[in-house]
Amino acid sequence: MSDSLRDELVAVGRSFFERGLSPGTSGNLSVRVDDGFLMTPTNSSLGSLEPARLSRLDADGGHVDGDPPTKEAWLHTAVYAARPDARAIVHLHSTHAVAVACLADLDPDDVLPVLTPYYVMRVGRLPLVPYGRPGDDALATVIGERARDHHALMLANHGPVVAGSSLAEAASAAEEIEESAKLLLLLQGRPVRALTQAQQDELRK
Ligand SMILES: [Zn+2]
Repeated sequence: MSDSLRDELVAVGRSFFERGLSPGTSGNLSVRVDDGFLMTPTNSSLGSLEPARLSRLDADGGHVDGDPPTKEAWLHTAVYAARPDARAIVHLHSTHAVAVACLADLDPDDVLPVLTPYYVMRVGRLPLVPYGRPGDDALATVIGERARDHHALMLANHGPVVAGSSLAEAASAAEEIEESAKLLLLLQGRPVRALTQAQQDELRK
């Protein structure tokens, strides 16, 4: 039933790992299936996932089979609960995005300046979720509230989490966040021309 989804999850994980977007055992991916979720296992490198060992969870987030799920399963279930249409979630600790997540005085409504049209088209806006201890119920509640209106969130001092209507869409948005974060850091100290509001509105139509 979900063999092709399993293969896709493994392929996307390997692609992230090989490009340095999921250092060590960081980063986790999930997809919604008919009766629950497929998720990357705990302590696994995204570069060496095995289709048959992916964690399968029921609709309530309970472990059904496969290896035990990522310790960040709470993050995925909080976003899925808030976004019934979400089919996939990508969460990365990609270097430039995490660097931005550690900056002081971020705009809580959109942590990245709108530098390129692709950011507007693939991400839209990226609100900040204030720092909380990973796994804390209060943090999961805040994430759920913000995820209702936004498919992409930046967790302060942690990294981005992105929901999509497909794994490819969520992966593409997560990559766009990483690239936009890299641009922001490259441009630090230089005068920057961001897209005007009218130019952004034209893309959001
Ligand atoms: Zn994380």
